[in-house]
Amino acid sequence: MPQPIPLSEPDVGDAEVQAVVRVLRSGRLSMGPELESFEQAVADRAGRQFGIGVNSGTSGLHLALLAAGIGPGDEVITTPFSFIATVNAILYVGARPVLVDIDPESLNLDPERVARAITDRTRALLPVEVFGNMQHFPAYQKLAERHGLVLVEDCCEALGGEMQGRPAGSFGHAGVFAFYPNKQITAGEGGVIVTDDPAIRDTCRSLRNQGRDGSDWLCHARMGYNYRLDEMSAALGCVQMRRLDEILQARKRVAQWYNQELAELPGVHLPPMARQHPSPASWFVYVVQLADTLAVEARDQVAERLCRAGIGCGKYFPPIHLQPYFLEKSGYRRGDFPICEEVARRSLALPFSSNLRREQVRRVASELTHAVQAVQTM
Ligand SMILES: *Cc1c(COP(=O)(O)O)cnc(C)c1O
Repeated sequence: MPQPIPLSEPDVGDAEVQAVVRVLRSGRLSMGPELESFEQAVADRAGRQFGIGVNSGTSGLHLALLAAGIGPGDEVITTPFSFIATVNAILYVGARPVLVDIDPESLNLDPERVARAITDRTRALLPVEVFGNMQHFPAYQKLAERHGLVLVEDCCEALGGEMQGRPAGSFGHAGVFAFYPNKQITAGEGGVIVTDDPAIRDTCRSLRNQGRDGSDWLCHARMGYNYRLDEMSAALGCVQMRRLDEILQARKRVAQWYNQELAELPGVHLPPMARQHPSPASWFVYVVQLADTLAVEARDQVAERLCRAGIGCGKYFPPIHLQPYFLEKSGYRRGDFPICEEVARRSLALPFSSNLRREQVRRVASELTHAVQAVQTM
């Protein structure tokens, strides 16, 4: 059998290895110069003044909501079609996640449905650039302004993206990026909150560091957390940030190969970003949808076939409202967000990374073609 093709893979080279080794030899393993450089590089890329590094994107979302003053009694509008961290951050601060269905074109929150869902208790919007798609962010920003809401941007999947000339991370009062190894670039683990608001910056810096406020290491002005990002991770992140354009370019090329290979394949819809012109800068994943002419079980059968052929694939995303713990206590039920549920049943993430070669993309496309043909004749 030919080499397996993984669903995702970090793009880490010698420069990254050397940077991490340099930190280890320096003796300064936390709260040092690498953190500051990494924070500044991410903030610059998002067109923001300040960056606050934390140990994950999830921690970043948690702190951004806390720093914006969101808490018990508040409602935060977000999407059921995201990674679980989005909703968990709202639950961590004791607020209520109010889910709104997506639009089937962008797979992001439908702005008209969002407008209808805003009530007296709504305090914030937490939209997500799902799969890197930035469509509707200007619309969410207008809604937040019109209704006096906090806008926190979950841009964990959109680093380096742009919409109407504006970078990902520049739309909200705060934005949060993540650097887990399957993201566009990685720090191993890590996140960066970006903002122009000095109050949000100061609160997040304190909260990530056990509520410390000044130079006295054992004085805690508020209840905080240990969400610090270590220097090895930050150093890795710094090198990756310097390589960001090169990596994004390579990912875009891989996406274009997929677009070409799959354009004529009946029963398979390309990702929404494949239809955008000019082609978007920042691809996070390559997720196709199986057409509704196929049975609803087709996706799982295709995934299983690909898996057996050594091709990694993912079912991004199962709807958040159907996750067992959330279904149990949120009051939401199956059927509440029909568009999200239908999209979730038909989505299939294909192997995607900057390392993929043309012939690997061809092999994935050919296996996918066979798998789809097999389910069509079943
Ligand atoms: C990756 C991701 C996060 C954060 O993930 P961490 O693993 O905590 O860094 C948050 N939201 C979305 C939509 C993501 O894709």
